[in-house]
Amino acid sequence: MPLGFATKAIHIGQEPDALTGSVTVPLYQTSTFAQEAIGVHKGFEYARTQNPTRTAWERNIAALENGSHAIAFASGMAAIDAIARLFDAGDHLLLAEDMYGGTFRLFDTVLRRHGVLFDTVDMRDLRAVRAALRPTTRLLFTETPTNPLMNLSDIAALADIAHSAGALLAVDNTFASPYFQQPLRWGADIVVHSATKYLGGHSDLVHGVVIVHSSELAERLYFLQNAAGAVPGPFDCWLLLRSVKTLALRMEQHQRNAQVIAELCSTHPAVARVHYPGLPSHPQHELALRQMSGFSGMVSIDLGSREKADRFIAGLRIITLAESLGGVESLVCHPATMTHASIPEAQRRARGITDGLVRLSIGIEDTNDLRDDVRHALDQC
Ligand SMILES: *Cc1c(COP(=O)(O)O)cnc(C)c1O
Repeated sequence: MPLGFATKAIHIGQEPDALTGSVTVPLYQTSTFAQEAIGVHKGFEYARTQNPTRTAWERNIAALENGSHAIAFASGMAAIDAIARLFDAGDHLLLAEDMYGGTFRLFDTVLRRHGVLFDTVDMRDLRAVRAALRPTTRLLFTETPTNPLMNLSDIAALADIAHSAGALLAVDNTFASPYFQQPLRWGADIVVHSATKYLGGHSDLVHGVVIVHSSELAERLYFLQNAAGAVPGPFDCWLLLRSVKTLALRMEQHQRNAQVIAELCSTHPAVARVHYPGLPSHPQHELALRQMSGFSGMVSIDLGSREKADRFIAGLRIITLAESLGGVESLVCHPATMTHASIPEAQRRARGITDGLVRLSIGIEDTNDLRDDVRHALDQC
């Protein structure tokens, strides 16, 4: 019988310590390991290459994403950089048009100089995706739901397109978390997370992880993890092992609160538009029901103007103005001037990232307190 998600989160990779019985995985805060004789050791030589706390976390998150292997990195960007380094100069990659800004920046300003060719495409439009393929296309890389407009892409359909072109499909699953969406089940080859967000869940670490179900891909990624060396410290892996034990509970409450806030916003006269995949008015609600088991905790609302966005944010008393997302505390951000400021204004507008758009990362506070906070702030607009 396959184990349920919460059971796996608490037990896989988190077995009692064989040496002492410690029920939590020990923190191996060490850089090296004693060897008995030349070439005789316990499988651990140097902590860039292997660390037992990191291995425990990698086993755990691999199980949660239904993968065979996970490879941990110092940040989400380091994880995405390792995926890009699987490819050679001259290979062609297709990226979603509305990926996380840092992902686009990495490809556009760094990897381009190393000869990686890429185009961006609206991953919602499968015909456009097919038309953008080239004989040298080796990777389709999408993010679903996207930041900040909660656009979805059809993972199973994209996997078919990628595979029939001899390419791989990678999915940035940060916004959904493995609790609500498991892209490998729908045919994706690579899943990546900024574990800084829901997996960490407490706004106290920066971390990234790649999950695959092919040992060949895993070998190449472990090689890059060790060779390039963007590895996480053992304490961050230990914190993640602790955080993930409550992931199921946290995600349920994030989603419960987000649904209430999305519904409140969709009936409030100050709000021009709500972006939340859990609302039947979301243009891809059907797809969300099909490929996700819940809608997560991110809600964006369009208030119509910068002045109203300013007034809304000033009116909030519990929800804090800050970048990042996925923590227990609710945060608000203004994408046009914060997370997406580097996108030229015309392009930003064309994509729907207006000056009146605010993005809410709904935390796990009491539902009534969040509802009152948002209603009070909306009344100020
Ligand atoms: C934050 C984020 C990243 C980058 O991760 P870091 O941990 O900040 O390096 C990548 N993708 C998405 C969707 C993100 O939200």
